Amino acid sequence: MKYCAYTSETLHKLPQLSEMTDEQVEAIRIVAAVYPFRVNSHVVENLIDWSNIPDDPMFRLSFPQAGMLDKADYVRIADLMRNDADPVVIRDTAKEIQMRMNPNPAGQMQMNTPVLDDEQLHGMQHKYRESVLFFPSEAQVCHAYCTYCFRWPQFSGLEEMKFANDNIMQLVAYVRSRPEVTDIIFTGGDPMVMSTESLRKYVAPLLEIPTLKAIRFGTKAISWWPYRFTSDPDADELVRLFSEITASGKHLAIMAHISHPREIERPEARQAVERIRSTGAVIRSQSPVVRHVNDDADTWRCLWQKQVQMGIIPYYMFLERDTGPKQYFEVPLVEALGIFNSAYSSISGLGRTVRGPSMSCLPGKVIVEDVTEINREKVFVLKFTQGRNPTWTNRTFFAEFDESATWIDELSPAFGRDEFFFEREMSRFTDN
Ligand SMILES: *Cc1c(COP(=O)(O)O)cnc(C)c1O
Ligand code: SF4
Repeated sequence: MKYCAYTSETLHKLPQLSEMTDEQVEAIRIVAAVYPFRVNSHVVENLIDWSNIPDDPMFRLSFPQAGMLDKADYVRIADLMRNDADPVVIRDTAKEIQMRMNPNPAGQMQMNTPVLDDEQLHGMQHKYRESVLFFPSEAQVCHAYCTYCFRWPQFSGLEEMKFANDNIMQLVAYVRSRPEVTDIIFTGGDPMVMSTESLRKYVAPLLEIPTLKAIRFGTKAISWWPYRFTSDPDADELVRLFSEITASGKHLAIMAHISHPREIERPEARQAVERIRSTGAVIRSQSPVVRHVNDDADTWRCLWQKQVQMGIIPYYMFLERDTGPKQYFEVPLVEALGIFNSAYSSISGLGRTVRGPSMSCLPGKVIVEDVTEINREKVFVLKFTQGRNPTWTNRTFFAEFDESATWIDELSPAFGRDEFFFEREMSRFTDN
Protein backbone atom coordinates (compact mmCIF):
# COMPACT_ATOMS: atom_id res chain seq x y z
CA MET A 1 0.00 0.00 0.00
CA LYS A 2 1.17 3.49 -0.80
CA TYR A 3 1.71 5.59 2.32
CA CYS A 4 -0.43 8.72 2.33
CA ALA A 5 -0.82 10.83 5.44
CA TYR A 6 -3.71 13.26 5.93
CA THR A 7 -3.58 16.16 8.39
CA SER A 8 -5.74 19.29 8.64
CA GLU A 9 -3.67 20.85 5.84
CA THR A 10 -4.20 17.92 3.45
CA LEU A 11 -7.70 16.90 4.57
CA HIS A 12 -9.15 18.19 1.28
CA LYS A 13 -7.25 15.43 -0.55
CA LEU A 14 -8.85 12.63 1.46
CA PRO A 15 -10.75 10.40 -1.02
CA GLN A 16 -13.44 9.63 1.60
CA LEU A 17 -14.19 13.30 2.26
CA SER A 18 -17.49 12.98 0.41
CA GLU A 19 -18.62 10.37 2.96
CA MET A 20 -18.73 13.13 5.59
CA THR A 21 -21.15 15.99 6.07
CA ASP A 22 -19.88 19.58 5.87
CA GLU A 23 -20.44 19.86 9.64
CA GLN A 24 -18.25 16.81 10.28
CA VAL A 25 -15.45 18.19 8.13
CA GLU A 26 -15.64 21.57 9.85
CA ALA A 27 -15.59 19.88 13.28
CA ILE A 28 -12.41 18.04 12.32
CA ARG A 29 -10.73 21.32 11.36
CA ILE A 30 -11.88 23.06 14.54
CA VAL A 31 -10.88 20.32 16.96
CA ALA A 32 -7.63 19.66 15.08
CA ALA A 33 -6.57 23.23 15.91
CA VAL A 34 -6.28 22.05 19.52
CA TYR A 35 -5.61 18.30 19.37
CA PRO A 36 -3.33 16.49 16.92
CA PHE A 37 -4.81 14.89 13.81
CA ARG A 38 -3.13 12.55 11.38
CA VAL A 39 -4.44 9.46 9.63
CA ASN A 40 -2.95 7.41 6.83
CA SER A 41 -4.14 5.44 3.84
CA HIS A 42 -4.29 2.13 5.75
CA VAL A 43 -6.56 3.60 8.43
CA VAL A 44 -8.96 5.26 5.99
CA GLU A 45 -9.00 2.48 3.39
CA ASN A 46 -8.83 -0.67 5.51
CA LEU A 47 -9.90 0.08 9.08
CA ILE A 48 -12.74 2.60 9.02
CA ASP A 49 -16.20 1.41 8.00
CA TRP A 50 -17.40 4.53 6.15
CA SER A 51 -20.98 3.25 6.00
CA ASN A 52 -21.15 3.58 9.78
CA ILE A 53 -19.65 7.01 10.58
CA PRO A 54 -19.57 8.80 12.96
CA ASP A 55 -20.29 5.83 15.27
CA ASP A 56 -17.69 3.54 13.73
CA PRO A 57 -15.11 2.91 16.48
CA MET A 58 -12.16 3.22 14.09
CA PHE A 59 -13.49 6.61 12.94
CA ARG A 60 -13.91 7.75 16.55
CA LEU A 61 -10.42 6.53 17.30
CA SER A 62 -8.68 8.45 14.53
CA PHE A 63 -10.82 11.47 13.53
CA PRO A 64 -11.34 14.45 15.88
CA GLN A 65 -14.94 14.77 17.10
CA ALA A 66 -16.84 17.93 18.07
CA GLY A 67 -17.47 16.61 21.61
CA MET A 68 -13.74 16.63 22.36
CA LEU A 69 -13.87 20.38 23.07
CA ASP A 70 -16.01 22.19 25.64
CA LYS A 71 -18.88 23.95 23.94
CA ALA A 72 -17.49 27.43 24.68
CA ASP A 73 -14.01 26.55 23.40
CA TYR A 74 -15.48 24.98 20.29
CA VAL A 75 -17.49 28.11 19.52
CA ARG A 76 -14.46 30.33 20.09
CA ILE A 77 -12.28 28.45 17.61
CA ALA A 78 -15.18 28.05 15.18
CA ASP A 79 -15.84 31.81 15.19
CA LEU A 80 -12.18 32.59 14.60
CA MET A 81 -11.99 30.16 11.69
CA ARG A 82 -15.26 31.28 10.11
CA ASN A 83 -14.03 34.89 10.24
CA ASP A 84 -10.67 33.98 8.70
CA ALA A 85 -8.81 35.14 11.79
CA ASP A 86 -5.06 35.54 11.78
CA PRO A 87 -3.49 32.04 12.17
CA VAL A 88 -1.40 33.42 15.03
CA VAL A 89 -4.57 34.34 16.94
CA ILE A 90 -6.02 30.87 16.32
CA ARG A 91 -2.79 29.27 17.49
CA ASP A 92 -2.66 31.39 20.66
CA THR A 93 -6.29 30.58 21.46
CA ALA A 94 -5.65 26.89 20.88
CA LYS A 95 -2.61 27.05 23.14
CA GLU A 96 -4.59 28.68 25.92
CA ILE A 97 -7.13 25.83 25.71
CA GLN A 98 -4.36 23.23 25.62
CA MET A 99 -2.73 24.60 28.75
CA ARG A 100 -6.05 24.24 30.62
CA MET A 101 -6.29 20.54 29.67
CA ASN A 102 -3.70 19.18 32.09
CA PRO A 103 -1.04 18.60 29.41
CA ASN A 104 1.41 17.07 31.88
CA PRO A 105 -0.51 14.41 33.85
CA ALA A 106 0.97 12.35 36.68
CA GLY A 107 3.91 14.76 37.07
CA GLN A 108 5.78 13.02 34.25
CA MET A 109 8.05 15.93 33.49
CA GLN A 110 9.11 16.97 36.98
CA MET A 111 9.16 13.70 38.85
CA ASN A 112 10.55 10.94 36.68
CA THR A 113 13.59 12.51 35.06
CA PRO A 114 16.67 10.46 35.91
CA VAL A 115 19.91 12.09 37.00
CA LEU A 116 23.46 10.98 36.24
CA ASP A 117 26.50 12.85 37.59
CA ASP A 118 24.22 15.75 38.61
CA GLU A 119 22.91 16.05 35.08
CA GLN A 120 19.20 15.67 34.32
CA LEU A 121 18.68 13.19 31.52
CA HIS A 122 15.87 14.53 29.36
CA GLY A 123 13.93 12.21 27.07
CA MET A 124 14.03 9.49 29.72
CA GLN A 125 11.76 8.57 32.60
CA HIS A 126 12.71 6.35 35.47
CA LYS A 127 9.69 5.90 37.71
CA TYR A 128 9.71 2.20 38.60
CA ARG A 129 12.92 0.59 39.81
CA GLU A 130 13.28 -2.06 37.11
CA SER A 131 12.35 -0.14 33.98
CA VAL A 132 13.47 2.99 32.15
CA LEU A 133 11.42 4.69 29.46
CA PHE A 134 13.39 6.15 26.57
CA PHE A 135 11.93 8.64 24.05
CA PRO A 136 14.12 8.64 20.91
CA SER A 137 14.08 12.05 19.26
CA GLU A 138 13.26 10.49 15.85
CA ALA A 139 10.14 8.85 17.29
CA GLN A 140 8.19 11.94 18.25
CA VAL A 141 5.32 11.15 15.89
CA CYS A 142 3.08 8.16 15.09
CA HIS A 143 1.88 6.52 11.88
CA ALA A 144 -1.55 7.94 12.74
CA TYR A 145 -2.83 9.65 15.90
CA CYS A 146 -5.35 8.27 18.33
CA THR A 147 -7.90 10.86 19.35
CA TYR A 148 -7.61 9.83 23.01
CA CYS A 149 -3.81 9.94 23.12
CA PHE A 150 -2.33 11.16 26.41
CA ARG A 151 0.84 12.17 24.51
CA TRP A 152 -1.14 14.80 22.59
CA PRO A 153 0.91 17.80 23.87
CA GLN A 154 4.02 16.36 22.21
CA PHE A 155 2.26 16.31 18.85
CA SER A 156 0.53 19.67 19.25
CA GLY A 157 3.60 21.83 19.04
CA LEU A 158 3.81 22.38 22.79
CA GLU A 159 7.59 22.44 22.64
CA GLU A 160 8.05 22.54 26.38
CA MET A 161 6.04 19.29 26.65
CA LYS A 162 8.34 17.26 24.44
CA PHE A 163 10.38 14.38 25.72
CA ALA A 164 13.20 13.55 23.38
CA ASN A 165 16.72 12.25 23.49
CA ASP A 166 19.18 11.15 20.83
CA ASN A 167 22.08 10.49 23.13
CA ILE A 168 22.39 6.75 23.23
CA MET A 169 25.64 6.89 25.21
CA GLN A 170 23.80 8.76 27.96
CA LEU A 171 21.22 5.96 28.12
CA VAL A 172 23.92 3.30 28.16
CA ALA A 173 25.86 5.10 30.91
CA TYR A 174 22.73 5.48 33.01
CA VAL A 175 21.67 1.84 32.67
CA ARG A 176 25.20 0.68 33.45
CA SER A 177 25.15 2.82 36.59
CA ARG A 178 21.87 1.21 37.68
CA PRO A 179 22.18 -2.59 37.65
CA GLU A 180 18.65 -2.85 39.07
CA VAL A 181 17.30 -1.66 35.69
CA THR A 182 16.37 -4.80 33.77
CA ASP A 183 14.06 -3.31 31.13
CA ILE A 184 14.36 -0.49 28.62
CA ILE A 185 11.11 0.61 27.09
CA PHE A 186 11.36 2.52 23.82
CA THR A 187 8.38 4.78 23.45
CA GLY A 188 7.50 8.05 21.72
CA GLY A 189 5.38 8.76 19.74
CA ASP A 190 5.95 5.41 18.18
CA PRO A 191 9.50 4.03 17.88
CA MET A 192 8.34 2.03 14.84
CA VAL A 193 8.21 5.23 12.77
CA MET A 194 12.02 5.19 12.95
CA SER A 195 14.16 3.76 10.20
CA THR A 196 15.74 0.44 11.05
CA GLU A 197 19.12 2.13 10.77
CA SER A 198 18.22 4.61 13.54
CA LEU A 199 16.74 1.88 15.69
CA ARG A 200 19.87 -0.19 15.33
CA LYS A 201 21.96 2.77 16.49
CA TYR A 202 19.99 2.83 19.75
CA VAL A 203 19.66 -0.89 20.28
CA ALA A 204 23.12 -2.27 19.44
CA PRO A 205 25.00 -0.79 22.44
CA LEU A 206 22.28 -2.02 24.80
CA LEU A 207 22.90 -5.65 23.83
CA GLU A 208 26.31 -5.37 25.50
CA ILE A 209 24.89 -4.56 28.95
CA PRO A 210 24.67 -7.80 30.96
CA THR A 211 22.32 -6.44 33.65
CA LEU A 212 19.75 -5.48 31.01
CA LYS A 213 17.34 -8.38 30.44
CA ALA A 214 14.58 -7.05 28.23
CA ILE A 215 14.03 -4.50 25.48
CA ARG A 216 10.49 -3.35 24.81
CA PHE A 217 9.07 -1.32 21.95
CA GLY A 218 5.75 0.36 22.63
CA THR A 219 3.98 0.64 19.28
CA LYS A 220 0.69 0.89 17.46
CA ALA A 221 2.26 0.09 14.10
CA ILE A 222 0.70 -3.41 13.93
CA SER A 223 -2.64 -1.60 13.71
CA TRP A 224 -1.77 1.78 12.20
CA TRP A 225 0.86 0.65 9.66
CA PRO A 226 1.46 -3.14 9.61
CA TYR A 227 3.57 -2.79 6.45
CA ARG A 228 6.35 -1.56 8.76
CA PHE A 229 7.02 -5.24 9.46
CA THR A 230 6.26 -6.69 6.02
CA SER A 231 6.71 -4.55 2.90
CA ASP A 232 8.31 -1.22 3.91
CA PRO A 233 11.72 -0.81 2.22
CA ASP A 234 13.58 -1.66 5.43
CA ALA A 235 11.07 -4.14 6.88
CA ASP A 236 13.35 -7.14 6.26
CA GLU A 237 16.18 -5.29 7.98
CA LEU A 238 13.88 -4.58 10.95
CA VAL A 239 12.94 -8.24 11.26
CA ARG A 240 16.65 -9.09 11.17
CA LEU A 241 17.30 -6.59 13.98
CA PHE A 242 14.57 -8.22 16.08
CA SER A 243 16.20 -11.63 15.53
CA GLU A 244 19.57 -10.21 16.57
CA ILE A 245 18.08 -8.92 19.81
CA THR A 246 16.59 -12.27 20.74
CA ALA A 247 19.75 -14.10 19.59
CA SER A 248 21.77 -11.92 21.99
CA GLY A 249 19.86 -13.55 24.84
CA LYS A 250 17.68 -10.56 25.71
CA HIS A 251 13.93 -10.71 25.75
CA LEU A 252 12.28 -8.62 23.05
CA ALA A 253 8.76 -7.50 23.91
CA ILE A 254 6.59 -5.68 21.41
CA MET A 255 4.07 -3.81 23.55
CA ALA A 256 1.28 -3.52 21.01
CA HIS A 257 -1.37 -0.91 21.48
CA ILE A 258 -4.58 -2.47 20.14
CA SER A 259 -7.89 -0.79 20.93
CA HIS A 260 -10.35 -2.82 18.90
CA PRO A 261 -10.49 -6.31 17.33
CA ARG A 262 -10.95 -4.80 13.87
CA GLU A 263 -7.35 -3.57 13.96
CA ILE A 264 -5.95 -7.12 13.92
CA GLU A 265 -8.58 -8.80 11.74
CA ARG A 266 -6.95 -7.53 8.58
CA PRO A 267 -4.59 -9.90 6.71
CA GLU A 268 -1.88 -7.19 6.75
CA ALA A 269 -1.89 -7.18 10.56
CA ARG A 270 -1.87 -10.99 10.71
CA GLN A 271 1.19 -11.07 8.47
CA ALA A 272 2.92 -8.46 10.63
CA VAL A 273 2.23 -10.52 13.76
CA GLU A 274 3.54 -13.69 12.11
CA ARG A 275 6.75 -11.98 11.02
CA ILE A 276 7.39 -10.45 14.45
CA ARG A 277 6.76 -13.76 16.18
CA SER A 278 9.08 -15.58 13.80
CA THR A 279 11.96 -13.61 15.34
CA GLY A 280 11.35 -14.93 18.84
CA ALA A 281 9.88 -11.63 20.00
CA VAL A 282 6.80 -11.80 22.20
CA ILE A 283 3.90 -9.48 21.47
CA ARG A 284 1.94 -8.23 24.48
CA SER A 285 -1.07 -5.99 24.15
CA GLN A 286 -2.26 -3.00 26.15
CA SER A 287 -4.92 -0.39 25.59
CA PRO A 288 -7.24 1.93 27.49
CA VAL A 289 -10.98 1.38 27.77
CA VAL A 290 -12.54 4.45 26.18
CA ARG A 291 -16.04 5.71 25.50
CA HIS A 292 -17.18 5.50 21.86
CA VAL A 293 -14.34 3.12 20.93
CA ASN A 294 -14.33 -0.01 23.09
CA ASP A 295 -16.65 0.62 26.07
CA ASP A 296 -18.37 -2.77 26.05
CA ALA A 297 -17.47 -6.22 27.32
CA ASP A 298 -18.07 -7.99 24.05
CA THR A 299 -15.45 -5.92 22.24
CA TRP A 300 -12.87 -6.82 24.91
CA ARG A 301 -13.81 -10.52 24.96
CA CYS A 302 -13.41 -10.63 21.21
CA LEU A 303 -10.16 -8.61 21.37
CA TRP A 304 -8.52 -10.88 23.96
CA GLN A 305 -9.74 -14.09 22.30
CA LYS A 306 -8.38 -13.02 18.95
CA GLN A 307 -5.08 -12.00 20.50
CA VAL A 308 -4.62 -15.36 22.20
CA GLN A 309 -5.43 -17.09 18.93
CA MET A 310 -2.76 -15.03 17.13
CA GLY A 311 -0.13 -15.54 19.82
CA ILE A 312 -0.42 -12.05 21.35
CA ILE A 313 -0.44 -12.02 25.16
CA PRO A 314 -3.06 -9.73 26.75
CA TYR A 315 -1.19 -7.54 29.25
CA TYR A 316 -3.02 -4.40 30.47
CA MET A 317 -6.42 -2.76 30.23
CA PHE A 318 -5.83 0.89 31.17
CA LEU A 319 -8.12 3.65 32.32
CA GLU A 320 -7.99 6.84 30.32
CA ARG A 321 -5.58 9.37 31.84
CA ASP A 322 -6.79 12.66 33.26
CA THR A 323 -5.61 14.81 30.39
CA GLY A 324 -6.89 16.40 27.18
CA PRO A 325 -10.42 15.52 26.04
CA LYS A 326 -10.91 13.17 28.99
CA GLN A 327 -14.55 14.16 29.49
CA TYR A 328 -15.29 12.80 26.00
CA PHE A 329 -13.59 9.43 26.47
CA GLU A 330 -13.80 8.70 30.18
CA VAL A 331 -15.48 5.61 31.61
CA PRO A 332 -16.28 5.53 35.37
CA LEU A 333 -14.12 3.13 37.38
CA VAL A 334 -17.08 0.95 38.31
CA GLU A 335 -18.18 0.63 34.69
CA ALA A 336 -14.65 -0.20 33.51
CA LEU A 337 -14.45 -2.87 36.21
CA GLY A 338 -17.75 -4.34 35.02
CA ILE A 339 -16.50 -4.44 31.41
CA PHE A 340 -13.22 -6.02 32.52
CA ASN A 341 -14.84 -8.68 34.72
CA SER A 342 -17.47 -9.60 32.21
CA ALA A 343 -14.94 -10.04 29.38
CA TYR A 344 -12.33 -11.71 31.62
CA SER A 345 -14.81 -14.31 32.85
CA SER A 346 -15.93 -15.19 29.34
CA ILE A 347 -12.48 -16.20 28.03
CA SER A 348 -10.28 -19.15 28.96
CA GLY A 349 -7.35 -18.92 31.33
CA LEU A 350 -4.92 -18.31 28.46
CA GLY A 351 -6.30 -14.78 28.12
CA ARG A 352 -6.41 -14.08 31.83
CA THR A 353 -2.84 -12.84 31.78
CA VAL A 354 -4.40 -9.40 31.38
CA ARG A 355 -4.47 -7.01 34.35
CA GLY A 356 -6.76 -4.09 34.86
CA PRO A 357 -8.49 -1.80 34.75
CA SER A 358 -5.29 0.05 35.66
CA MET A 359 -4.59 3.73 36.35
CA SER A 360 -1.09 5.08 35.63
CA CYS A 361 -1.12 7.81 38.23
CA LEU A 362 1.31 9.82 40.34
CA PRO A 363 1.99 7.15 43.01
CA GLY A 364 2.10 4.19 40.61
CA LYS A 365 0.02 1.77 38.59
CA VAL A 366 -3.18 1.12 40.50
CA ILE A 367 -5.63 -1.63 39.58
CA VAL A 368 -9.31 -1.43 40.39
CA GLU A 369 -9.68 -4.97 41.73
CA ASP A 370 -13.21 -5.10 43.01
CA VAL A 371 -16.19 -3.37 44.57
CA THR A 372 -17.23 -4.97 47.82
CA GLU A 373 -18.77 -4.32 51.22
CA ILE A 374 -16.66 -4.33 54.38
CA ASN A 375 -18.34 -3.60 57.74
CA ARG A 376 -21.39 -2.48 55.79
CA GLU A 377 -19.35 0.15 53.92
CA LYS A 378 -19.29 -0.13 50.12
CA VAL A 379 -15.68 0.24 48.95
CA PHE A 380 -13.36 0.02 45.97
CA VAL A 381 -10.61 -2.55 46.43
CA LEU A 382 -7.47 -1.09 44.82
CA LYS A 383 -4.04 -2.59 44.34
CA PHE A 384 -0.62 -1.32 43.25
CA THR A 385 1.04 -3.36 40.50
CA GLN A 386 3.83 -0.77 40.33
CA GLY A 387 4.74 1.79 42.94
CA ARG A 388 6.97 4.83 42.97
CA ASN A 389 8.18 3.13 46.13
CA PRO A 390 8.80 -0.53 45.18
CA THR A 391 7.60 -1.74 48.59
CA TRP A 392 4.07 -0.66 47.63
CA THR A 393 3.93 -3.34 44.93
CA ASN A 394 0.94 -5.66 45.34
CA ARG A 395 -0.36 -3.72 48.33
CA THR A 396 -4.12 -3.50 48.54
CA PHE A 397 -5.96 -0.43 49.82
CA PHE A 398 -9.55 0.75 50.01
CA ALA A 399 -11.50 3.80 48.86
CA GLU A 400 -15.08 4.85 49.45
CA PHE A 401 -17.27 3.66 46.63
CA ASP A 402 -18.11 6.43 44.18
CA GLU A 403 -20.31 5.61 41.25
CA SER A 404 -19.10 8.45 39.05
CA ALA A 405 -15.39 8.52 39.92
CA THR A 406 -13.14 8.13 36.88
CA TRP A 407 -9.68 8.65 38.40
CA ILE A 408 -7.86 8.14 41.70
CA ASP A 409 -7.88 11.82 42.65
CA GLU A 410 -11.69 11.68 42.85
CA LEU A 411 -11.54 8.95 45.51
CA SER A 412 -11.48 9.27 49.31
CA PRO A 413 -9.98 6.73 51.70
CA ALA A 414 -12.50 4.26 53.12
CA PHE A 415 -13.28 3.57 56.80
CA GLY A 416 -13.06 7.25 57.80
CA ARG A 417 -9.30 7.47 57.26
CA ASP A 418 -7.74 10.87 56.51
CA GLU A 419 -5.42 9.67 53.79
CA PHE A 420 -4.30 6.66 51.77
CA PHE A 421 -1.33 4.78 53.20
CA PHE A 422 1.06 6.15 50.55
CA GLU A 423 0.09 9.82 50.73
CA ARG A 424 2.51 11.01 53.39
CA GLU A 425 5.42 9.51 51.48
CA MET A 426 4.08 10.89 48.17
CA SER A 427 4.16 14.41 49.57
CA ARG A 428 7.87 13.93 50.16
CA PHE A 429 8.32 12.99 46.49
CA THR A 430 6.37 16.00 45.28
CA ASP A 431 7.59 18.66 47.71
CA ASN A 432 11.17 18.79 46.53
C1 LIG B 1 3.81 1.10 32.87
C2 LIG B 1 5.11 1.73 33.04
C3 LIG B 1 6.29 0.97 33.02
C4 LIG B 1 6.27 -0.52 32.81
O1 LIG B 1 5.56 -1.20 33.83
P1 LIG B 1 5.29 -2.75 33.73
O2 LIG B 1 4.25 -3.03 34.77
O3 LIG B 1 6.60 -3.43 34.00
O4 LIG B 1 4.81 -3.03 32.35
C5 LIG B 1 7.49 1.63 33.20
N1 LIG B 1 7.56 2.97 33.40
C6 LIG B 1 6.44 3.72 33.44
C7 LIG B 1 6.57 5.18 33.71
C8 LIG B 1 5.18 3.13 33.26
O5 LIG B 1 4.09 3.90 33.29
S1 SF4 C 1 -0.11 5.28 18.92
FE1 SF4 C 1 0.12 5.76 21.11
S2 SF4 C 1 1.44 7.59 21.18
FE2 SF4 C 1 0.66 7.38 19.07
S3 SF4 C 1 -1.19 8.62 19.00
FE3 SF4 C 1 -1.85 6.55 19.51
S4 SF4 C 1 -1.90 6.51 21.77
FE4 SF4 C 1 -0.70 8.28 21.15
